[in-house]
Formats: sequence, C-alpha cells, structure tokens
Amino acid sequence: MYNMRYDIAIVGGGLAGLALSIQSAKAGFKVVLFEKEQYPFHKVCGEYISLESWDFIESLGVPLSKMQLPIVNRLMVTAPNGNSVEQPLDLGGFGISRYTIDKALYDLAKGLRVRVEAGVKVDDIVFEADMFSVHSSVGIIQSRVAVGSFGKRSNLDVKWKRPFILGKQKQLDNFIGVKYHIDIDWPKDLIALHNFKDGYCGISAIEEGKTCLCYLTTAQNLKTHGGSIPFMEEAVLKANPHLKKILEKAIHLYEAPVTIAQISFERKSLIEHHVLMVGDAGGMITPLCGNGMSMALHGSKLAYEAIAPFLRNELSREAMEQRYERVWTNTFGKRLTVGRWVQRFFGKTWMTNLFISILKPFPFLVRAIVKQTHGERY
Ligand SMILES: Cc1cc2nc3c(=O)[nH]c(=O)nc-3n(C[C@H](O)[C@H](O)[C@H](O)COP(=O)(O)OP(=O)(O)OC[C@H]3O[C@@H](n4cnc5c(N)ncnc54)[C@H](O)[C@@H]3O)c2cc1C
Repeated sequence: MYNMRYDIAIVGGGLAGLALSIQSAKAGFKVVLFEKEQYPFHKVCGEYISLESWDFIESLGVPLSKMQLPIVNRLMVTAPNGNSVEQPLDLGGFGISRYTIDKALYDLAKGLRVRVEAGVKVDDIVFEADMFSVHSSVGIIQSRVAVGSFGKRSNLDVKWKRPFILGKQKQLDNFIGVKYHIDIDWPKDLIALHNFKDGYCGISAIEEGKTCLCYLTTAQNLKTHGGSIPFMEEAVLKANPHLKKILEKAIHLYEAPVTIAQISFERKSLIEHHVLMVGDAGGMITPLCGNGMSMALHGSKLAYEAIAPFLRNELSREAMEQRYERVWTNTFGKRLTVGRWVQRFFGKTWMTNLFISILKPFPFLVRAIVKQTHGERY
C-alpha cells in the first residue's frame, strides 16, 4: 500500500472532488479519491443547481435530460413579516437531491477506474520531495498532485490551523444548516427564499415529486432555543406566515433532519501546503445565492485545466498553482463579494423587512442581484 503512486489524490468526494476525478480519469490520469462517508448519503444543501452547470454535468456523463428533473424559473423572496417579491429567473436552475447526483457521479468515477476509498477519512496530507503522502486508515498513498475538496470545514482545516478556523468569530461565522425532504403540493418551477430572524429557508422541487426544504441560521439562534430544532422552528421560522403554512402542511420524508454546524463564509486560501483547494474548501458562497454547487463543479474544471498540463510536464508546480489561483479569482471573486454583501442584509429582521419593502416596487433589482451572484454556462 505504501508504494502506491497516483497522479492525483483527491480528498473529499462531494461534487468538486467527484467531478475532478471524472475529468482526470477520462484523460487517462491515475486517480485516487477519499470520501469519509459511504455512498449514497444525504447532505445539507438546498439542492437547487443553477442551469449554468447543466451542460458540464451532462458532459461528465450524468444524463440529466433523461431524469425528468424539475426546471425552476421563478423566484419568490419573503421577509419575516410576510411581505414578498417575485421575479422570473433569467437563467434558472433545476432540482436534484445530493443523494442522487453525488451517487451518479460516484458510479461514473468507479466506472472510469478511479480508486474510490469510501468510508475513509484522510488524517493528513504531507508534501515532501515534490510528492504528496496522503495518510488515512488504508495506509499512506503517494501522488504528484493533491486536491483538497473536503467541503466547508474538515479535520484537515483544524489540523492545518487554517485562518478561518482560528479567527475570532465574526458576523460571517458559525452558522448551522438544516435540511428536510418533504411531501407538499409545491410548484415545480418555483424556488422560494423565506426569511426569518437570523436566517433564511429555501424551498424547491427535486426528483420524484419530492421537495427540498433547507435553512441556514446562526448557531446562536439554536442556542437561544435550548438547542432544540422544533422549538426554534416553532418560535422563529413560523413567525414568517409563509413558512408557518409550509411547515404545518409538510409531511417529512425522513425521521430527523440532516444538519451541519460551524459553517463559515470567511475568505479562505486556495493553496495550502501545495494542495489545491477546490469547492467549498477554497471558498464558500452564502447559500442564499444558490450557487455553491455550480462553483464547486466549475472550480473542478478550472483545477483540472491547471493540473493536466502540470502532469504532462508542460507547466511547473509553481505555474500550475498560480494559474489556478488567478483563474479561480477572476471567475468567482466578484460573486463571493456580492454574496457576502447580500448575506448581511438577511441578518436582522428589521433590515430584511426593510430590504424587501424597498425591492418590492423595483423587482428588477432582485434579478440584477441574482445575476451578480451567478455565472455563465461553462
Ligand atoms: C444550508 C445550505 C444550503 C445550500 N443550498 C445550496 C443550493 O441550493 N444550491 C447550491 O448550488 N449550493 C447550495 N449550498 C452550497 C453547496 O452545498 C456547496 O457549495 C457544495 O456542496 C460544495 O461542494 P464540495 O464538493 O465543495 O463540498 P461537499 O459537497 O461538502 O463535499 C465535501 C466532502 O468531503 C468529505 N470529507 C471531509 N473531510 C474529509 C476527510 N478528511 N477525508 C475524506 N473525506 C472528507 C465530506 O464527507 C464531503 O462529502 C448550500 C449550502 C448550505 C450550507
């Protein structure tokens, strides 16, 4: 096991890692991918993917056109006081659960002979003598390139003491996410963003007539309600009349929600110890922009386009790293800044109420903001 050498070792098998493994394996590179969970599994996510990623996902081999997925082209935003604004979405998106899409990508990767180590958590990645050693319970694996696609927050962020972990907690730190799949009569073409005190909840259709309900709020909000999700939903989310109606009508499709904690939207570095960070590990856009999955997928393409020439000895390591950082920043920098700025308007109840009442007579502004946080097809 110790002497196994790969071209690329990918740590984290979400959208970014799986998509990168598929592109690399198709080009003939020898790839190993580690994922700490066993596929398929549920993940906290709004499960609305911008249509900018449709062609790319199909090019990887997922037959989206044959999957009868809901296409979403209307956005409704409501304030905690129930005031609402609705607009068409210029590009729009589609709904698919992470359970389904991650599994489809995993199957493709396996079919392309990617060595997938599922259920294996990586403990360390060490760079020495121009090679990486990836440490996990299956031993030490060596590779020429290492990619960190381990998501929002991982044991490796803590081990490497990345600044967003160590930093004093700020306004964009320490959120929690909660997700349910529900059965409810929901228009397939509509995504709603319902705001409540210290958070917001996205609702949109996914495959097989199911609906995804996913919200983000501060850890403090949960703490104030004794750490109880039902108490918090009763007291805070249901204060928005739209959410009250939905939460009271919804039939939950699994016993408990999927949850995550300690989400941070602070800036992150794109390269750590020569490891290329892709997806949320490199920078996370606030979920209200509904664009994180497209950034993870598109980011994997940008990473691949820098890694492939390095592995073919056409670029030095330094040039590969510089190319990735430059292209990533040009592609996503503005989106992340707008995302952080918009997130601030959706914190305080009075501010969100005011923001929505200002937008109501000028709904085209909603469209303009959405445009700033999304990209083009790639
Ligand atoms: C509440 C909420 C709602 C959202 N809604 C939307 C939405 O509607 N639309 C949208 O586009 N985006 C949305 N996002 C963002 C989106 O979920 C992320 O941007 C996307 O999942 C990023 O993909 P990724 O591959 O970078 O990370 P992930 O999908 O998180 O994958 C990382 C993987 O790494 C694994 N891992 C971690 N550490 C290790 C380790 N040491 N060893 C091995 N494996 C490891 C994890 O198990 C995980 O599977 C939302 C996010 C949140 C928090």
